[in-house]
Amino acid sequence: ADIGSQKDRVVTEEEWLQRWEMSKIGFHKEQGHPLLQKYLDVLLNGRSGLRIFFPLCGKAVEMKWLADMGHSVVGVEISKQALKDFFAEHSLPYCEEPVPEISGAKKLQSTSGNISLYCCSIYDLSSSIVGKFDGVWDRGALVAVNPCDRQRYVSLMITLMEKNSSYLLVTVSYDPNKHKGPPFYVPESEIKSLFG
Ligand code: SAH
Repeated sequence: ADIGSQKDRVVTEEEWLQRWEMSKIGFHKEQGHPLLQKYLDVLLNGRSGLRIFFPLCGKAVEMKWLADMGHSVVGVEISKQALKDFFAEHSLPYCEEPVPEISGAKKLQSTSGNISLYCCSIYDLSSSIVGKFDGVWDRGALVAVNPCDRQRYVSLMITLMEKNSSYLLVTVSYDPNKHKGPPFYVPESEIKSLFG
């Protein structure tokens, strides 16, 4: 397939915010993702009390699943509406505070303390702000990143991972000439070279 057709495509943050505003969020899975259920053991590997990262989290219900299992969840998302909807839809009380290191960013944290969602661009984060993670659930994240930003995204993700962390990545396979994305087509060979 000719992946060149998507190489220069850019979806702006404004466009994402508009999608949330207009509820054009066909990517959201109300029942959660069956692949997380299927590969949960790979993510957890018998460990408990993990720190799990959700890049470009939207209002993914899997965050609630993992928190309910006793893990602590950190997400990042540019749409504040998505994050507010997440807490509202699960009837979770939360509080909001600024993030001193990132101008304009907010952290929305469940009152119980085990779900912390950053409202900012993922590119503003670093391990000194959010720490490192034992597991990553990457669904609708790498495939939503603009193709020109993939290397930057993956390099950042690598810096956010603990030594023995597991990274579950969901991609979609299709002919990139037939759909402009997102989600973008990220061939397996590129995933291998991105993550090294
Ligand atoms: N992972 C979620 C959402 C996937 S859609 C799920 O599985 O449902 C991609 C999300 O990334 C959108 O909600 C969009 O608002 C958000 N987003 C796009 N660019 C971003 C960026 N640079 N930083 C943080 N969030 C971003």
